[in-house]
Amino acid sequence: TASAPRLPAWLRRPLPTTPVFAQTRNLLQELRLHTVCESARCPNHWECWSRGTATFMIGGDRCTRACRFCAVTTAKPLPLDPDEPRRVAEATRHLGLRHVVITAVARDDLPDGGADHFRRTIEAVRELNPGVVIEVLTPDFNGRAEHIATVLSARPEIFNHNLETVRRLTPQVRHRATYDRSLQVLLWARQIGGDRVWTKSGLMLGLGETPDEVLTALQDLRQVGCEIVTLGQYLRPTPAHLPVVEFITPEQFDWYGQQARAMGFRHVASAPMVRSSYHADDFQIEPRET
Ligand code: SF4
Ligand code: SF4
Repeated sequence: TASAPRLPAWLRRPLPTTPVFAQTRNLLQELRLHTVCESARCPNHWECWSRGTATFMIGGDRCTRACRFCAVTTAKPLPLDPDEPRRVAEATRHLGLRHVVITAVARDDLPDGGADHFRRTIEAVRELNPGVVIEVLTPDFNGRAEHIATVLSARPEIFNHNLETVRRLTPQVRHRATYDRSLQVLLWARQIGGDRVWTKSGLMLGLGETPDEVLTALQDLRQVGCEIVTLGQYLRPTPAHLPVVEFITPEQFDWYGQQARAMGFRHVASAPMVRSSYHADDFQIEPRET
């Protein structure tokens, strides 16, 4: 809208073109892989790809949902591509990733929500890339424990599911999901995965939430055993998406980060440009033995 605040200086980014960026782009094109970096128009696209990191988006690039902050196309998805797990594994190897993040569109059209495709992808990546740390960023699988168990059966090191926003704003921001269901998903992952898996979540700020609401959301995440959290500024991907209500200052992000650490989160990333998968490899853990 016309009243949307102007982009502050700390959110303006240079657009570097490096050989690594082009190599990453060419590899992903050759292997016909989608990334959330492109599909969701992530503002860190240039930086991450220039570092040779990307977040794979499996299950196609058409989502059955239409969250109001998200630029991924809403449409009837195509059938799953059974060869996609192999290509994600190949790309991981070519990029030399030590920490790979794999996400997916919400496949509400499939009986298992795409859980088995996640399982196959994790297995393929691990087989071709011994010693890699695998992080999955999943949809909510409509809160079904058996689908979360399917994903966890392939033993990803990190199970990430985003709460996205505070309780009050959830119906406006992602109308097909609920706040409690997302907490339940994280609790299932904690209970089913036990101490074999780290659980992670994230919030976008600047949608009109109050500091108290953010602190409550962080406490709710701790209640379900969540250990890693990301907090970043929401930016509207196109004029058709939810407007930014407020630009949170870097100092305020630091304060939230301190609060989160005091609550017992093991790893916290809180800054304007932080996204769920931004510098995911900063959290250094031992990969599984294969
Ligand atoms: Fe891709 Fe994540 Fe980096 Fe954004 S922050 S460009 S989604 S890897
Ligand atoms: Fe975007 Fe995920 Fe919502 Fe689909 S479910 S619209 S990919 S945020």
